Amino acid sequence: MHLLTLNCGSSSIKFAIFDSDLQEVLRGQIDGIGTEPRISAQRNSQTVIDHSLQDACVSDHGSALSAILDLLRAEVPGIGIAAVGHRIVHGGTQFSRPVVLDEKTIDQLRALIPLAPLHQPNNLAGVDAAASAFPGAVQVGCFDTAFHRDQPWINDAFALPYRFYEEGVRRYGFHGLSYEYVSDRLREISPAHASGRVVACHLGNGASMCAIDNGCSIGSTMGFTALDGLPMGTRCGQLDPGVVLYLLQEKQMSANAIEDMLYHDSGLKGLSGLSNDLRTLEAAATPEAGRAIDYFTGRIRIELGALAAMLGGLDAVIFCGGIGENAWRIRQSVCEGLEWLGVEFDALRNRSGDGVISSERSRVGLFVIRTDEEIVIARHARKLIGQ
Ligand code: AMP
Repeated sequence: MHLLTLNCGSSSIKFAIFDSDLQEVLRGQIDGIGTEPRISAQRNSQTVIDHSLQDACVSDHGSALSAILDLLRAEVPGIGIAAVGHRIVHGGTQFSRPVVLDEKTIDQLRALIPLAPLHQPNNLAGVDAAASAFPGAVQVGCFDTAFHRDQPWINDAFALPYRFYEEGVRRYGFHGLSYEYVSDRLREISPAHASGRVVACHLGNGASMCAIDNGCSIGSTMGFTALDGLPMGTRCGQLDPGVVLYLLQEKQMSANAIEDMLYHDSGLKGLSGLSNDLRTLEAAATPEAGRAIDYFTGRIRIELGALAAMLGGLDAVIFCGGIGENAWRIRQSVCEGLEWLGVEFDALRNRSGDGVISSERSRVGLFVIRTDEEIVIARHARKLIGQ
């Protein structure tokens, strides 16, 4: 029996396959669906395949899943998929834990598309495609919003007329599967820190931060959509809503044009005019790239102060995501502004960047933890089919 996990983005599918003991067998991804499709996969961190699918007509999620299935049949002898676990960006107010996806729950998730128009349709396309490709498998939905659903009301609401809160205009928070993984992992590495006041920073192309009190989210930087909070690769992060009104009324921009700009042309890309990719910005070392990086790290420090205030203090900080795990200069410049909070990093440990990076004297524990959303999904899927 195997468990397959799928994370369907607009032009990519990440997948991982686990055996019944939750040992990872293979993981990989297809990128460039509909344009320049490419498949890659690794076993025990060693590349087993990495090639173009240009001739294979991978034009949508269905054909991409067929290509994944072909790969799995070739690479995993005797494969039998008992369950497919899906990362679903939005579970609304209804889904605060993973569920088996049936017609009713899928309809409920479709109704949430207006809350996540750029992500939810791709996630659901993946569910449809997987249901056709693996008709005998149980489909399980795991939600990026679920980890945050128990946060206190003041961290969940906007100060709008209350009827909007009641109809679902709330601070949902995202990256919940990643936060679940790193806070569970912290409990293994350092139980004392994990039962305290922790700020986890998921810093990747998408970026957010979460205040975690004894393993439970009490607030996060992302709000109603995945636009709020930190600036990201191409997303703007926190923005005065008056700016949107200005763009609509004075600049006569359409809602679609504003949406496109806020999601795809802002953040590191918008500020640098160069790239959404931190490695490119670090290598460029131009004033424009420096400006974008300074804004990014400055906002992380500001949000860290705010989340520490929510928690009433700070015992540990976790860095994860592509930037959090790999970009030591970013971690350094975040920590250098936070001595007042009791944060003191160890320069050598920070350069090597795995596990503990705080100095012996630091009052706050600093940790780099490689996140793994796939294993979280697989664990939930196994639990649900066990029931
Ligand atoms: P993610 O969305 O989690 O895959 O993270 C992607 C981001 O991580 C991009 O901005 C990358 O440039 C950045 N990143 C990945 N590896 C490194 C690295 N070694 N140094 C600096 N940034 C990195």
